[in-house]
Amino acid sequence: MQCKCGSDIVYYRRYEARGYCMKCFLDSVEKKFRRTVSKNKLIRKGDKVAVAVSGGKDSLSMLYLLNGIAKGFSLISFSVDEGISGYRPKGIECAAELARFLGIEHHVYSYRKEIGMEMDSLEELAGKKVKNCTYCGVFRRYVLNKKARELGAAKLAVGHNLDDEAQSVMMNFVRGDLNRFSRLGASPGESPKFVPRIKPLRDIPEKEIAAYAVLKGIKFSGDECPHSFDNVRRDMQGVLNDFELKYPGTKQQVVGFYDRLRGSLPLPGGSLKECEECGEPSSGALCKACELLFSLKVKRPDQSS
Ligand code: SF4
Ligand code: ZN
Repeated sequence: MQCKCGSDIVYYRRYEARGYCMKCFLDSVEKKFRRTVSKNKLIRKGDKVAVAVSGGKDSLSMLYLLNGIAKGFSLISFSVDEGISGYRPKGIECAAELARFLGIEHHVYSYRKEIGMEMDSLEELAGKKVKNCTYCGVFRRYVLNKKARELGAAKLAVGHNLDDEAQSVMMNFVRGDLNRFSRLGASPGESPKFVPRIKPLRDIPEKEIAAYAVLKGIKFSGDECPHSFDNVRRDMQGVLNDFELKYPGTKQQVVGFYDRLRGSLPLPGGSLKECEECGEPSSGALCKACELLFSLKVKRPDQSS
């Protein structure tokens, strides 16, 4: 099979029933990326965009792609070290290497320094049955927002791809969680301390990002986190992959349907407060990170005795 341009194919897109040669494939991913950024007006002229990079294929491809269109706005990248031995150090190394290659300033912030604990000690603090990703997700959002703001960023770019978005839509749907369903991807409310998040990869399937990274020679970490037990997400990933195989285009349909529905869903409005403990934006008296840290009896390093 040949690409439309006549060259040999390196990638077959089932949902288009079309094969692509390397050049046409890379061009089409870049075009899709640019379209998502411009259609949704994700970045404005003069913006400083803080790019969260874990060192995986998604975030590193995002950094590479953003760098390719960075005219009229600036980039700064940073990684969060959750304290997961044998896993995160490699990712951070890849992130730092790509940032260096692209000439982008890169920072690393650790859970240990920011919240006073590491993910490797969570089970010790909370017991074996603890849902690691629930804690880790809250802490990561906390650190990402705080650090993006401290870096002076107008936007925080995260590497969620089409598969992640489709999974999130379906997970909230099957849980019957209308509140979270309608808040998906939206800002939790107004606050000068909240840095708006952007997801420039949300229209690109995970497989295509992986292929893009490999074809571009981007060195990334493909290791799996040893604390990853988020079974609902993994199960949903399996369901969506099965559907995609049988009905190509399913993931686009799910996200597209959600986008069309979103205008009619009740969105969180109003202002956020400041957490009474740490001062970060919060919808309640305490932010979620402080609530969890209290339950674990962990003191943030900046808290007095
Ligand atoms: Fe954290 Fe879960 Fe991701 Fe591991 S898989 S880094 S525990 S959110
Ligand atoms: Zn707090």
